[in-house]
Amino acid sequence: MTEHSPMTTAPATPAGPALPDAQTVTKVTHWTDQLFSFRVTRPKSLRFRSGEFVMIGLMGEPDPKTGRQKPLLRAYSIASPSWDDELEFYSIKVQDGPLTSRLQHIQPGDQIILRPKPVGTLVHDALLPGKRLWFFSTGTGIAPFASLLRDPETWELYDRVILTHTCRETADLEYGRQLVESLENDPLIGELVDGKLDYYPTTTQEESAKRGRITDLLRSGEVFADLGIEGISPQTDRAMVCGSMGLNLDIKEILEGYGLHEGANSEPAEYVVEKAFVG
Ligand SMILES: Cc1cc2nc3c(=O)[nH]c(=O)nc-3n(C[C@H](O)[C@H](O)[C@H](O)COP(=O)(O)OP(=O)(O)OC[C@H]3O[C@@H](n4cnc5c(N)ncnc54)[C@H](O)[C@@H]3O)c2cc1C
Repeated sequence: MTEHSPMTTAPATPAGPALPDAQTVTKVTHWTDQLFSFRVTRPKSLRFRSGEFVMIGLMGEPDPKTGRQKPLLRAYSIASPSWDDELEFYSIKVQDGPLTSRLQHIQPGDQIILRPKPVGTLVHDALLPGKRLWFFSTGTGIAPFASLLRDPETWELYDRVILTHTCRETADLEYGRQLVESLENDPLIGELVDGKLDYYPTTTQEESAKRGRITDLLRSGEVFADLGIEGISPQTDRAMVCGSMGLNLDIKEILEGYGLHEGANSEPAEYVVEKAFVG
């Protein structure tokens, strides 16, 4: 498997026992030995705002004493936009992770549990109007932005959108790279995007077109020089951040240094943050 030819499994016949809030897997794509994406059917009644997350999972192993099984659920950003008929997720594979050690083996036709209660702060409603929108992501933190980038509202609200995605190796960037490429050919979004997107992928542990942590590249001003931007201003710039706890705190500090304030659904401001995972 190379980074340019992810392994995609074809749909199979639905099977398996009925689960509470069950949805059927329609497609699975393995990007690396640590990353995969999958699509599932969408409950007709599920409404969400692009950028939100839901709880998904599988039935847990039977309790050794009682034999009872409980759902094993984890938070997952919905990577597909709110208009899509299906739901897409982009996932890590933690080899000893209670959920993803099993979830990584799902096949089309299998069922997963999806609790239909979307929530989250990486939504347009939590930001005040602006001209330029920054999406800062590391690893699977690109998932909410994969949703927002495919939402026409993003392109109607902003003149320019900058997606930064930092991963260890080039292969880890491939999901995002293909997503960005597909936007231009998308019948719905292509015309709206029309030169407004700057994609800024960086790697920390392998040589690539741009090496380095996004925090260092912001502090040194290299990002701005590369993009031909003077800096970040609370009048024009808005930002959404999704990465590890450390990344989120560092970017918060940088954004606050430029005079931006953290927003929330109840009180929109200039930037919003969400953890890509706990730990
Ligand atoms: C708001 C929110 C949204 C999330 N969205 C996503 C998503 O879209 N995709 C996704 O893969 N995960 C996402 N996560 C993490 C997810 O909830 C689980 O932690 C992950 O699926 C692993 O589950 P697990 O049971 O296998 O291992 P866990 O016991 O949950 O995690 C084991 C350890 O693995 C590491 N880890 C967990 N998730 C990640 C990750 N995504 N990237 C790097 N290291 C990780 C952490 O160090 C963690 O302590 C999200 C978490 C939160 C809080």
